[in-house]
Amino acid sequence: MIAEIGGNHEGDFEYALKLTDLAIDSGADFVKFQLYRGDTLVSPAESPDRNAHFKKFELTRDQHLEIAGRCAAAGVGYMASVWDLEMLEWIDPHMPIYKIGSGDLTAYPVLHEFARRGKPMIVSTGLANLEEVLDAVAFIQEVNPVYRSPDKLAVLQCTSMYPIEDKDANLRVMDVLREKTGATIGYSDHTIGSLALLAATARGAQVLEFHFTDSREGKTFRDHKVSLTRDEVRELGAQLERITAMLGDGVKRPLPCEVETNHVTTFRRAVYCKRPLKAGEVLKEEDLVVLRPNHGVDARLMNQVVGASVTSDTPAFGALNVDGVVSLSGNAVCPLCGREDTKVLSVVTRRPSVEVDYQIPASEYLRQVRQCAGCGVYFNQHNLIPDDFYGAAYNASSYAGKFAERYARVRALPFEDSDNKHRAARLNQELILCGKGRGGRVLDVGMGLCVFLAEMLEHGHQCFGIDPDAVSVANAMEKVGVAGAHCGTLDTFNGEGGPFDLITFNKVLEHVADPVDALRRAVDFLSPDGFIYVELPDGDLALKHGSTTSRAEFNVEHLSIYNQKSILALGSKAGLKNLRVHSMVEPSGKCSVYGLFVPTESERSV
Ligand SMILES: [Zn+2]
Repeated sequence: MIAEIGGNHEGDFEYALKLTDLAIDSGADFVKFQLYRGDTLVSPAESPDRNAHFKKFELTRDQHLEIAGRCAAAGVGYMASVWDLEMLEWIDPHMPIYKIGSGDLTAYPVLHEFARRGKPMIVSTGLANLEEVLDAVAFIQEVNPVYRSPDKLAVLQCTSMYPIEDKDANLRVMDVLREKTGATIGYSDHTIGSLALLAATARGAQVLEFHFTDSREGKTFRDHKVSLTRDEVRELGAQLERITAMLGDGVKRPLPCEVETNHVTTFRRAVYCKRPLKAGEVLKEEDLVVLRPNHGVDARLMNQVVGASVTSDTPAFGALNVDGVVSLSGNAVCPLCGREDTKVLSVVTRRPSVEVDYQIPASEYLRQVRQCAGCGVYFNQHNLIPDDFYGAAYNASSYAGKFAERYARVRALPFEDSDNKHRAARLNQELILCGKGRGGRVLDVGMGLCVFLAEMLEHGHQCFGIDPDAVSVANAMEKVGVAGAHCGTLDTFNGEGGPFDLITFNKVLEHVADPVDALRRAVDFLSPDGFIYVELPDGDLALKHGSTTSRAEFNVEHLSIYNQKSILALGSKAGLKNLRVHSMVEPSGKCSVYGLFVPTESERSV
């Protein structure tokens, strides 16, 4: 909020101070003035009346400096449209930000002088057409490339008339300015009242400028008519805060208040049968109704239910359990801690664009993303069979060739873009910290592309891996040159190459049905002072950046998705003690959480 006092003091310094104090008191972020001398602004020959008008409104250098000091002392920003470049030299140290008025949009020598100094700049666009605005922005950016950042440049829609009619606010122009300039967008108001400022905020304005006075009564200078008073600005500030809160983040998802109250289940409907059913009985359309709550079979599956048979005796209007039909019961059990107290975060009925196309038929695509109220783990509840859809993705005949190509591409990523290089650096550090230095024995469970082990080899460690995919194992042995690789799982692993100083589960346990069991098995292959590294998708962090359908962390292939609380629960269920837990956004943009674990004493002795 920029409170523009401008020329409202009409040349009276005491009045200017009074207006400054009121503006400071109004809650405005900036108080703004205009710095000019009549003779350096208006030609005395061509426009003698305007020249005299501006001369009358002049304040002295000392007066301007006193006002700027008063703002600074109150912790409020001081701003000025400086229409006289000689004045800029002494006022510049007092201005954290520059303002170019509409009249100076085409005054390129003025733009040049401000732009070369590089402070954040706000440009008003009254009088201009779009090309003139774009030309001015391009000119400013050419003088100083810092203005390519929206943090440094704001462009305000403005109509240079006092006052303007509502239809002349033309707020939609902000949409065009945002799209075409890439700058921060705002609005400078000359309507009567503050409604246009509220509307502009709802349309995305992030900078608001308005004229400011003590009272509009009995004033002749035209700017007072379009000015707001202290109390009106206070009211405006409170309303803007509410509008900003109401705008939210734009991510369409069930919000915590809808989830915590369980309304996703209680307000939605499921298919019910009006009469009691015996196990094996076939459902007929005329017996079925859709009612709240959404227990048993989701109402979207009505067509699939007709003709299917129920798997158990069911009372009239009881939750249905139907053979061959996805059933999303009201109480799904947590895969980690077994609690029944789990909440539906969202129901996903079609493949999100961030998910690999596993060729799941559209009519069968249905899952719930849930979260356990106890351990906090997120999980996908569905009747899809993971092995089926992995098979579909891997069966392409060119798979081995594509694997080699992907390995080469991911391996070649520079450090700043590589999740694997960051992970290897992190774990190399841990091995050094526990006295292993080079030559630590590392076992990676679920090698995949094996880029991580290739990096660990470069750090001088002895590397071993496990993967159920024969192409991954062949790549590890032949291309990466690991010391040993087992084709299978920890269940079928005989410990060859062990015991290990470090066993890693990098984005693996979210894919397995029993992650606790997999972790427990790893302990058998650990050296007495070895440790286990577990890295998983972080659902809490992902939801800060998007929704369950816009973030790949929640994709169907992840049976469980974690946060700091649930990775600790996972370790503790597996009899492990946690040394470290950390959440991060990786170079690839993935939200992840990792934990370092060691066996508790009792587990080791077993
Ligand atoms: Zn749980």
